[in-house]
Amino acid sequence: MSASYSLGIDLGGTAIKMGICSSDGRILRHTERPTPKGSYKLTLQTFKQMAEELLQDSQLTMEDIAGIGTGLPGFLDINKGYVFELVNLGWKEIPLKEKMEELFGVPCFIDNDANTAAIGEMWQGAGRGAKELVCITVGTGIGGGLILGGQIYHGVSGMSGEVGHMTVVRRDGRLCNCGRKGCLETETSATAIAYYGSKAAAEEETTLKEILRDKGHITAKDVIDCAKEEDEVSLRILNQVCEHLGFGLAQIANILNPEKIVIGGGVSRAGEFFLARVRNAFSQFALKKINEAVAIVPAELGNEAGLLGAAWLVFEKK
Ligand SMILES: [Zn+2]
Repeated sequence: MSASYSLGIDLGGTAIKMGICSSDGRILRHTERPTPKGSYKLTLQTFKQMAEELLQDSQLTMEDIAGIGTGLPGFLDINKGYVFELVNLGWKEIPLKEKMEELFGVPCFIDNDANTAAIGEMWQGAGRGAKELVCITVGTGIGGGLILGGQIYHGVSGMSGEVGHMTVVRRDGRLCNCGRKGCLETETSATAIAYYGSKAAAEEETTLKEILRDKGHITAKDVIDCAKEEDEVSLRILNQVCEHLGFGLAQIANILNPEKIVIGGGVSRAGEFFLARVRNAFSQFALKKINEAVAIVPAELGNEAGLLGAAWLVFEKK
């Protein structure tokens, strides 16, 4: 039997997700383990154990596997399969493709996790059928992946899609981890919404005050829930966030003219209440024809997008 499946891996700071996928994009079986702390070698051993279990449970062997794709959070040389640095995992200077091919004996590929999530959505999720796609994850931080002509766009040094560091507040924005101020991430992520909510709870008349008193802290979900209950201060914060996000997305769209913009991550779970506001702001800043051509939609795959997109790398490169 020829090898017709691939293994997709989504390596995160807290968990490893792995799945066996068919070439038509079905996940046969998947599993998850905590990411080991310490040397990358421990993680590779965990990969090996997880793969063996998955294969056994699916009554398959390594012979059935055409290759392995891995999505990683950090700075990579995608062509060489080399990891420069994964800050959250403490990995530095690792020839990962080489090490994994030694361990598994099949071709291995890597890409940035924001890119693999974008591919997953293009293949089997909200982006199905679209070849010009912008995917953005609005969670603790903001990640992005650009798909142009059905391919991930990597840029000259693999840094493309860093939409989180697009400047949306030019004066007096919040300081970002990147050292600059007013980035999309510092103004519209879940962390930003929680920050503005906490600030308002300390300074203004709002139901957030009671939540702060009861729980001791404010989350993005608190702000969104209070906005849905028509708390004026929360609504103002959310409207501002959506305006910044719509503005940022419009700048990207004015350049790329995408067919779809897929929004995932925790904040997108606020649903139409959130998306309608983003679309409204977007339409003010995007060219009319660009606005008419694009659908701004919620991500569909959730946690599975990353491993599906990673599995796709194998079929794509074969
Ligand atoms: Zn930044």
